[in-house]
Amino acid sequence: MSQAAPAALVRKHEFTTTSGAETIEVGRKLARLLEPPQLLILRGDLGTGKTTLVKGIAQALDAAEADEVTSPTFTLIHEYDGTRAGKPVKLFHLDVYRLEGERQLETLGLDELLTPNALVLVEWGEKFKSIRKKATGEIVIASAGGDARKITVTLKETGIRDQGSGISL
Ligand code: ADP
Ligand code: MG
Repeated sequence: MSQAAPAALVRKHEFTTTSGAETIEVGRKLARLLEPPQLLILRGDLGTGKTTLVKGIAQALDAAEADEVTSPTFTLIHEYDGTRAGKPVKLFHLDVYRLEGERQLETLGLDELLTPNALVLVEWGEKFKSIRKKATGEIVIASAGGDARKITVTLKETGIRDQGSGISL
């Protein structure tokens, strides 16, 4: 007998920060919630803290120190090797701001990056329909006046993965 496909559930987390250091700390917490594979869109105006958040994620995965994580605006993609829950994890940090059109995007080979142990974080990923379709979630950073930022994380989970007590490290 066939079973209905499990409904996709959505998990939402919200944080407020008032400094870059606090956003790095949120990134560190998020690393625990992000079970690979993930393709996440990092959305927010220029200078809101997308790259800053990745610093925390990279740090928590022992993939890089915060000051080693810089914007991939020109290089388009930065790759780090880390560990999560005792397993190797590949962290890919992309910035597709400068890419124009799906043809240019294809040259990046995004699909090849998304292996079972990969966390792929794409700044400006919302620009591309193909990325929006494949994304397993998104992180939105909005300025809330001065140095305050509201960080909203939305993760899609399949019914199977989501059963039980939730995501654990
Ligand atoms: P983006 O990648 O979104 O363009 P960056 O992370 O490169 O932004 O830069 C964000 C800048 O804003 C950094 O200089 C950071 O120190 C500063 N900043 C100030 N307050 C915050 C905050 N609450 N969260 C993140 N960054 C902040
Ligand atoms: Mg950036």
